[in-house]
Amino acid sequence: MTSSDALIPNPAHIQAETMLARQFGRETANYFSSSPLNRLSFLRSDHPFLSAALQHPSTRFVLLKDLAPLVQTAAPAAPYYARYDEIQPLVPATLYDQSEEDLLNAYDSRTPAAATPIFLGLDETAPKREGAFTWKSYAGTPYFALDVTGPRGGEEEQQAPYRQVVEALEAKGLSFLQARVVMSFAADQAAIYAQARALIDWNTRNTFCGTCGQRTVAVHSGTKRACPATDRARPAAGRPACSTRTTISNLSFPRTDPTVIVAVLSADAQRILLGRGKRFPPHWYSTLAGFVEPAESVEDAVRREVWEEAGVTLSRVVLHSSQPWPYPANLMIGAIAQVSDAAHEAITLEHDPELEDARWFDIAEVEEALRNGVSALGDAPGPEYTEGALRLPPPTAIANQLIRAAISIDLLGGEKNSKI
Ligand SMILES: [Zn+2]
Repeated sequence: MTSSDALIPNPAHIQAETMLARQFGRETANYFSSSPLNRLSFLRSDHPFLSAALQHPSTRFVLLKDLAPLVQTAAPAAPYYARYDEIQPLVPATLYDQSEEDLLNAYDSRTPAAATPIFLGLDETAPKREGAFTWKSYAGTPYFALDVTGPRGGEEEQQAPYRQVVEALEAKGLSFLQARVVMSFAADQAAIYAQARALIDWNTRNTFCGTCGQRTVAVHSGTKRACPATDRARPAAGRPACSTRTTISNLSFPRTDPTVIVAVLSADAQRILLGRGKRFPPHWYSTLAGFVEPAESVEDAVRREVWEEAGVTLSRVVLHSSQPWPYPANLMIGAIAQVSDAAHEAITLEHDPELEDARWFDIAEVEEALRNGVSALGDAPGPEYTEGALRLPPPTAIANQLIRAAISIDLLGGEKNSKI
């Protein structure tokens, strides 16, 4: 079993001494962040680069089927990275022979959409072996993501190569990990999987233009989608006009939905505000969270959410850390906030009925829960857990990290409240 420590990534440049690190403390890196890959985003439309990376013997493919990742074993969960020859029936070696512009000009609505490898980046931490992939000044193991689900409702002829690839992988004892949320990969693997899942899901949901309703085409190695101007199937009429082609926003970009999540301290900093949703297990509480709205600062969103869900009025909000959450496209922005006056601590659930309960917990009770009451949502707490005591999310959840930080208060530069 992977230890909990291996699940939590190290912050970048962990040993570096900086004035900021002395002032604000160590950076917190959350699960799904700190990918080992250098994304090299500026090379995503460089077809000679992509062609070389696609077919290099060291290249690894993260495969998802109906968003479930391919794994060697389910427990402990370890992803299986496919080689090019294992997915070659879906991705011809000639894929990048034409430029992106030529491919868009050659768009033909009669041709089924091809599988789109998504370039994720180069793992520069991989040992530099003879024959390792290099491109200009960059060296490392290329990673691509590939959706092997196959066309939904497609003809048998279109489904066949996908089924063939999947069956060959399953014949090797590999399987697709079925889980609502995958949080058991080691830190580096989790970050790569998160990027793959978010981009595959976004491509799957955006096969039609949001402006004109016609089919879109993946470009920039699956990280953008374009609405082609012409269609070989209708050379005379072309495609109806679409404003995405005439304005500066001629591409659609992957979504990232900012979400705030906050550990709230009481005015005396001796208690933490936590809430529970209707579907949480008994005695399980977590930090309050919600979406950032258009034209709203993160700090304002934190104050609004906590007031709407719990009736508590916050003063100072301090940003702490963030966590990519690829279910489907969230960025959890973690904050610690404090009430300035005990009069603002009164809880009411009457504004927005989202929470089943919200409560102030003494720090001692929270410390006990962090020691013995944490577990993944569907799992049982540890053997030392006392039935009826507070339960909290695991360290892989940013909620846990925020609660730890709030009760240690290091980041605020003030006195340390807790020894946990
Ligand atoms: Zn369009």
